[in-house]
Amino acid sequence: MNDVLRTLNFIDGQSCPSITEASFEKTEPATGQLFTLVADSSEVDVNNAVLAARNAFDYGPWRTMGSAARAKLIMKLADLVEENADALSITLAREQGRPISEMRMMDLPVAVDTLRYFAGWADKLEGRFIPTAGYMGKPTVNYTIMEPVGVAAQIIPWNAPLMICIWKLAPALAAGCTVVIKPSEEAPVSVSALASLIADAGFPAGVVNIVNGRGPTAGRALVNHAGVDKISFTGSTAVGRSIAADIAGKLKKVTLELGGKAPQIVFPDANIDAALQGVAMGLFVNQGQTCAAGSRVLVHRSIADDFANRLAEVAKSLKLGDPLDPSTTMGALINDRHKSRVLEYIALGKSEGARIVAGEESVPPVGHFVRPTIFAGVDNRMRIAQEEIFGPVGMIIPFDSTEEAVQIANNVQFALSATVWTRDLSIAHSVAAQLQVGAVAINGWSPLDARLPWGGFKDSGVGHDLSKTSILSYLREKVVTAVL
Ligand code: NAD
Repeated sequence: MNDVLRTLNFIDGQSCPSITEASFEKTEPATGQLFTLVADSSEVDVNNAVLAARNAFDYGPWRTMGSAARAKLIMKLADLVEENADALSITLAREQGRPISEMRMMDLPVAVDTLRYFAGWADKLEGRFIPTAGYMGKPTVNYTIMEPVGVAAQIIPWNAPLMICIWKLAPALAAGCTVVIKPSEEAPVSVSALASLIADAGFPAGVVNIVNGRGPTAGRALVNHAGVDKISFTGSTAVGRSIAADIAGKLKKVTLELGGKAPQIVFPDANIDAALQGVAMGLFVNQGQTCAAGSRVLVHRSIADDFANRLAEVAKSLKLGDPLDPSTTMGALINDRHKSRVLEYIALGKSEGARIVAGEESVPPVGHFVRPTIFAGVDNRMRIAQEEIFGPVGMIIPFDSTEEAVQIANNVQFALSATVWTRDLSIAHSVAAQLQVGAVAINGWSPLDARLPWGGFKDSGVGHDLSKTSILSYLREKVVTAVL
């Protein structure tokens, strides 16, 4: 086992195993082969990481370093991620089982751009001068200071590990926070690979720490640690709820980016060719394992059958296979347990009376593959239309009027994102205004851009990643009043 890749922790500038040297296995989704042994951290490792971050924040050079110098380091990290994009794409494709073309087109460019965008914010976090009527007859000068909140715990999911990690890391660093990252046990390698780039960029020790391990042990210990001031979590709604319960009464700042069940609404006047492409992308990118997966395809009844058949053709044309092959358009699901869960949902859809128009063809014999599947004739009350499947499974739900489309779209516990396909601008904007979601895309699928806020309502979460909104969540505004 000596030549097996080991995924270590990164604490106070040093790569290290867990204190007990315990580890667990992580396999490759597309081959089932052992990929790495991951440090299985305990409360002691988490404590060491938080103390390093605390020390770097309270006493280290990070806090006193000028904001332009912080920006320069974040820019340097962006350059290093860009220089290592090929290697990181390969790692991501292997650990996630996801086509490498998606990493090259989306995850890596978005990660690099996000670092540069937030580096640009670091020296623009200005306070305000606020005039008042004065204090007891005397004039005052009132101003505010934007301060970093302190140590941020950042808990990362497996479905876009590096990109989402950087969505959280970049604004925290720009704000002047120090950070402890807990990667997912299912995708720890690409996030842990940041350690050497962070060291090479020249960040002071303790500013960024990475502690690997399991959610219920390492993740939970991190959330509950008294030295953590802010928690930013992306993952399932169930774990998001358990984190909210864990910190109830602790009054920490918290951002929760949770699950989704996005509607994609297709009106009959839409550019149907473009809608088919966009809907298929929203459904099948990352094997449907995205929070923004547009699995509920609401189609006007007049075109529903035709659209279902054409979408089925797109689904059947996808090429399943080796994630490292640039021509592969669909990879494997993250693990066998998740594959079984998705197959159970496909069986459920059939038993609920939905009609399969694509799926069920053969899959590669090795690896956790599932054929892209489309159900037609779906009723919004079915469980397959209500629950997050997190796999390549879409359902066509017909509607008769704009009002009904909005009603169906909103009638679900999740509220993260939606798409609207129409050439009629007044329908587009009026539907966008009525949709109860954090992000609406008109004639496109969820453009992920560092400048645009990303966050959900209802069971999809609290707070935002990306944009100015997210950097504000790593800052606190202090007011100073001088009586003259
Ligand atoms: P998950 O909730 O199982 O795990 C996410 C992270 O939380 C992992 O690092 C895990 O180790 C950790 N964790 C687990 N239990 C914990 C606990 N008790 N305390 C602290 N940490 C704990 O989610 P996942 O399966 O990795 O990711 C898939 C989910 O993430 C889907 O529901 C998806 O919709 C959601 N997601 C949301 C967004 C968004 O921006 N809203 C983006 C990507 C993924």
